[in-house]
Amino acid sequence: MIDLRSDTVTRPSDAMRTAMAQAEVGDDVWGDDPTVSHLEAKAAELLGKEAGLYVPSGTQSNLSAILAHCQRGDEYIVGDNAHTYKYEAGGAAVLGSVQPQPVQMLESGELDLEHAAKVIKPDDSHFARSRLLCIENTHDGKVLPLDFHDRARSLADEHDLGLHLDGARLWNAAVALQAAPSEVAAPFDTVSVCLSKGLGAPVGSVLVGRQDLVDDARRWRKMLGGGMRQAGVIAAAGIYALDNNIDRMADDHARAARLAEGLGAIDGVSVTGRSTNMVFADLGPNAETMAEQAAKSDILIALSGTTTRLVTHLDLTDDGIAQVIDLANRTLPVTN
Ligand SMILES: *Cc1c(COP(=O)(O)O)cnc(C)c1O
Repeated sequence: MIDLRSDTVTRPSDAMRTAMAQAEVGDDVWGDDPTVSHLEAKAAELLGKEAGLYVPSGTQSNLSAILAHCQRGDEYIVGDNAHTYKYEAGGAAVLGSVQPQPVQMLESGELDLEHAAKVIKPDDSHFARSRLLCIENTHDGKVLPLDFHDRARSLADEHDLGLHLDGARLWNAAVALQAAPSEVAAPFDTVSVCLSKGLGAPVGSVLVGRQDLVDDARRWRKMLGGGMRQAGVIAAAGIYALDNNIDRMADDHARAARLAEGLGAIDGVSVTGRSTNMVFADLGPNAETMAEQAAKSDILIALSGTTTRLVTHLDLTDDGIAQVIDLANRTLPVTN
């Protein structure tokens, strides 16, 4: 199966499953699971932070962080296309009484910091209290440069805001920037990273950051139903992923580049974006034909009209990418 719909579709490898089978476990709600504790410490160390918290999903990780930074009646400033605004079911507002203040995002994936500066509210009883600035890297596969992180930190400091990074795909950013994950994470008070996307673990995210914030987030995680018991079985997959699957993401990026190049050469197809492990394309009038033929060849792509987002990951091979380009060449060209 060549599944290009997302990098969340990966299956744990045999070696990862062996690590899971051999995991030492305990009751993590009691703080007794050595494998979970090991994963939390390892992620915190890799990202240069004081503490870590293992959570079932990126959504719960971001929400726990927002609730740790903000009280009822506070607000967080967030990109209008950011996951923490648009794709998390309004959790901060629904469950935390924390108001989102969306801010325009630029083509680059950066949140417009000038716009953000204008919507930060003064201390006045009319307004929600601006408390937190949220950044996302990578966004739609796009890598935000480290100097953007520094500028976001300066703005946050100027207004006494906390700074959170939704780094679901921080690993892709670090590999693309040839920077240490700790360098990417450095300016932030809290950082959420996914283990279940390009790293190939079946489940889980880690929230890392300042000890007091992570302690608070641990309480919120329990309230949100994320306190898990013998979770070492799944945490072991995360440890395996951090040890083995970060550097190899360079292959995913190279394969996305090859895919973009192959598709871009076809008449009628336009590649509208490509960075790290994602390719965005308009496949043109024959998109539906390709999707139908793809399904017959065990190739999965997600179409929205004639456009698609293709995502590379560790369950793909060079041969698989070549098969997709070959299928595209057979089905997509527009002939007059
Ligand atoms: C996937 C994703 C999340 C949330 O992760 P889930 O584990 O699916 O809840 C958060 N932020 C970004 C940018 C993501 O891509």
